This record gives sequence, structure tokens and C-alpha cells, in this order.
Amino acid sequence: ARPAEESQWKTYANSKKIAWKTGTSSGNRDAWAIGVTAKYTVGVWVGNGEGNGNKEIKSNTTSAPLLFDLFNSLPNSSWPAFPYDELEEVTVCKNSGYLAGPNCEDTKISYRPKNSPLGSCCPYCHIVTLTPDLKFSAGVRDMVGKYAGQMPVAKKWFVLPPSVEYWYTKHTLGYREIPPELSPEDPSNARDSALRSLSIVFPERGANIVIPVEIDGKKGAAVMLVAERNKECTVYWDIDGDYLGSTTGTHQMACTPTTGKHVLTVWDSAGRRDSISFTVVDSGD
Ligand SMILES: [Zn+2]
Repeated sequence: ARPAEESQWKTYANSKKIAWKTGTSSGNRDAWAIGVTAKYTVGVWVGNGEGNGNKEIKSNTTSAPLLFDLFNSLPNSSWPAFPYDELEEVTVCKNSGYLAGPNCEDTKISYRPKNSPLGSCCPYCHIVTLTPDLKFSAGVRDMVGKYAGQMPVAKKWFVLPPSVEYWYTKHTLGYREIPPELSPEDPSNARDSALRSLSIVFPERGANIVIPVEIDGKKGAAVMLVAERNKECTVYWDIDGDYLGSTTGTHQMACTPTTGKHVLTVWDSAGRRDSISFTVVDSGD
């Protein structure tokens, strides 16, 4: 089918008061489309009797256009009535849509089916402590120099996992990245404990490291190491703003930074972040 056909049924679907969902099974064995209005329920299945896969069996190009052809031949209808009796109000995080937790600043009322599982609280909102000008993440120990005599302020902050943040900021205005740490090399840095359960083990904060030269004369690699309490999490690596890659399970990353000072930053898929600076010193040969 041509792409034009797909955009046609989508335009039609979005102009009508039809609640719909499509799906294609793995291996292209089934293509489904289900639609509901106040008056009609239409279901379409496309496949073959043997259950064999066929790359042409895709809901976008088969069951979905057929579903809306069928609705087109039916009288216009309205949205299904809002089933208030079967719903109850819940307060959700305005940013994430999860049930609001104690650290969610912006919340709104939403609805959930009364007997459905409650779901989990927003994992993305944290309390962070910042310099009074809100420019840096900082703790009490950072209140020196221009901040001497002041206290850090606590703020509720919505922190997305970095891979999500990357896309979210492309499509959503107003997302505020968590301010950088004032002193990332300070071992007692100010992060909330939820943010600190990810920590860089090697290099140590502020360390001078030597990268050995291999037998063949080429510069070797430093193997960096991160501890992550949540074993399900993916860890994302960055040196001086350059993305290195991601790790799961055991979090080790080989790299060959140049001589001089560097900042290593890691995030995990729960939005936790750790950052340190270290210096690569010449091995002297
Ligand atoms: Zn939240």
C-alpha cells in the first residue's frame, strides 16, 4: 500500500469520534484493528488460516483502512459516554502522568478504572538542593565563596532519564534540566539519595590517572567503572559532553581521554546522574 493511503485513513480516523487501536503480531501473522463509538464496535482481523507470517500483513495497511471503511459506511456516532461510575479520581504528576508522589510539584486530577491496579508513583520527581540563585546543585558544604553565609534551597524537580530527555526536549518546551553540580569532585556532593544511588567508582573524584602505553607503543585505555544499585538500569556515559555509549549489567567503559582535565558524567534509565572530574597525567614516556 502507498503511504498516501495510510495518511488518508489516519486523517479520517482523527476527524471522527471513534476510539480505536491497531496492532500487528510479531512475525506479521495477524493484523488487528478495533474501533468503538457510542453505538458501534467494529473489529477487523487480517491473516491466513495457517497462521503463517507475511510481510504484507500490517495493521497500518490492511486492518486499519478496512476498519475505517466500515465505519464510513455506518451512520456517524459520538464518543462513548464517559463512564464516571466505573472511574475514580486520582492525582497524577502533570509531567509524567504517573500517580503523584511526594516530590511531584505539578499535579492534576485524572481518572482510573476503579478496580484496576493502582500503578506506581512517579519515579522522576526528586527533591534537589540548589544554590540560592538556582544555578547549581549544591549542598551545605558548597556554601563558601560567593555563597558563604547562605543556605542551599530545596526544590522539587522533574528529572527524566537521559535518553528520554533527549527526545522530550526536542518536542516539549519548558523542560528544565537539573542544574549542574557546583563541585562534582566533592565526595559529599549534594544529590538527593535517589539521585546518588548511581555512583562513579573509577576514576575517583578529582583523581590523577595514568593511562598505560601498550606493548605495541599505542596508548592504552582506561576502564571506567560505575556502581548502580538498580540492576535493571541502563547506564549512559559521557566525557566532556561527548556521548560514549551505554552499558547494562556490569557498568564498565573503556576510553582513552587525552592528557589533561576531564569531566565524566553518567546517567541511568531512572534519571539518576553522577559526575566527577579527573585528570589524565602523562606517564612520562
Ligand atoms: Zn512527578
